[in-house]
Amino acid sequence: MRTPIPVAEAIGRIMQQVRPLETEEAALEEALGRVLAEPIVARHSVPPFDRSPYDGYAIRAEDSEGASGSARIPFTVIGEIGAGHVGEKTVGRGEAYRIMTGAKIPDGADAVVMFEQTAETDSGFSIRKPFTAGENISCKGEDAAEGDLLIEAGTRIHPGTVALLATFGYARVSVSRLPVVGILATGTELLGVEDELQPGKIRNSNGPMIAAQLGRLGVPVRLYGTSADDLPACTAIVKEAITECDAVITTGGVSVGDYDYLPAIYDQLGASVLFNKVAMRPGSVTTVAALDGKFLFGLSGNPSACFTGFELFARPALLSMMGDRAPYMPHFKAELAEDFTKPNPFTRFIRSVWQMTGDKITAAPAGFNKSNAVSSIARGNCLIVLPSGTRGYAAGDSVDVLLLGSEQGAKDWVL
Ligand code: AMP
Ligand code: MG
Repeated sequence: MRTPIPVAEAIGRIMQQVRPLETEEAALEEALGRVLAEPIVARHSVPPFDRSPYDGYAIRAEDSEGASGSARIPFTVIGEIGAGHVGEKTVGRGEAYRIMTGAKIPDGADAVVMFEQTAETDSGFSIRKPFTAGENISCKGEDAAEGDLLIEAGTRIHPGTVALLATFGYARVSVSRLPVVGILATGTELLGVEDELQPGKIRNSNGPMIAAQLGRLGVPVRLYGTSADDLPACTAIVKEAITECDAVITTGGVSVGDYDYLPAIYDQLGASVLFNKVAMRPGSVTTVAALDGKFLFGLSGNPSACFTGFELFARPALLSMMGDRAPYMPHFKAELAEDFTKPNPFTRFIRSVWQMTGDKITAAPAGFNKSNAVSSIARGNCLIVLPSGTRGYAAGDSVDVLLLGSEQGAKDWVL
């Protein structure tokens, strides 16, 4: 007996079972894509000293008072400060240091005149406008003050985060451990990627696809290859996989056909099935079970359903195990680019392409859209969500769109 539950409820049941993984230290070079287990707090001010944002001259602003085109004020240059160096002298009345971008403002000076604002003289330069104290100076702490909470724990590390960690000297950072995820493609019809086609057989595309979906999350994969639709053989592999991994993703074998053995396998393992039918297209047969804090994701063998099932269910579960507080796909509204007249009792997820059309974002289905489609997965860059209902949808309707492949996520689920 299978009772379909709404997608949001299915996700909710999964998220309730998530147990956060332990934390560990990662070297900064290996931190990309990991989830911070500690907040980034400013260990010192940024910038750490008042510095020049331009190449020019450091002066005392008060000495520039009254400067104009007809009454230029001259300055004497007393030295030069390149980035990384410090001026030894204190700038006195009518004096200036030649200073380069990034160099520390010398004592006495409180403004920087850009080269473009000066005219050269024998002993230095002259200016034609007055400067105010602090003008053209990057002040100590203007970016971050010591002690500021800059990034919260539970944030995925992206290149900008790496820059911030480096700024504060984090050679190592506390992150969540990565889950190890096993992949098994089931189906007697499956051939390897390198195999020639044979009558009745197809190549296993789901295995490599799931490995790639995990790969772009930065999650390590353990490959269990393919298995024929054979209950004892398949059970043995899944059993081994769930002891070796934090989660196991299988594809195929969750429908109600004669050779769909995954439900029986979950039963034998004593796993608790969180749901075995979801009110969605494609992938209504998606089945997820939990065992000792580990997940068994039984995704449909149909490629589009398999792809969508991973993004909707496995992705937030794994990211949440990694401590990510924004584990859902980012979503936004777009204008439906074409009619979608077929009404559906189940929520539809359509592999689609979003783009800017004039001044608005439109989203159009990416072509042949049945659950067994593989070409539309390759073309799509998003999923259009069409909630269930009796009516179809028309071009111009505002629809929810889930962004695929984003390194950052959303804190909430779209529906
Ligand atoms: P199943 O979910 O096992 O009923 O399979 C549904 C459909 O997906 C069938 O047409 C299968 O041949 C196909 N299929 C199953 N596994 C894969 C796979 N790993 N790669 C590509 N297609 C598959
Ligand atoms: Mg099958």
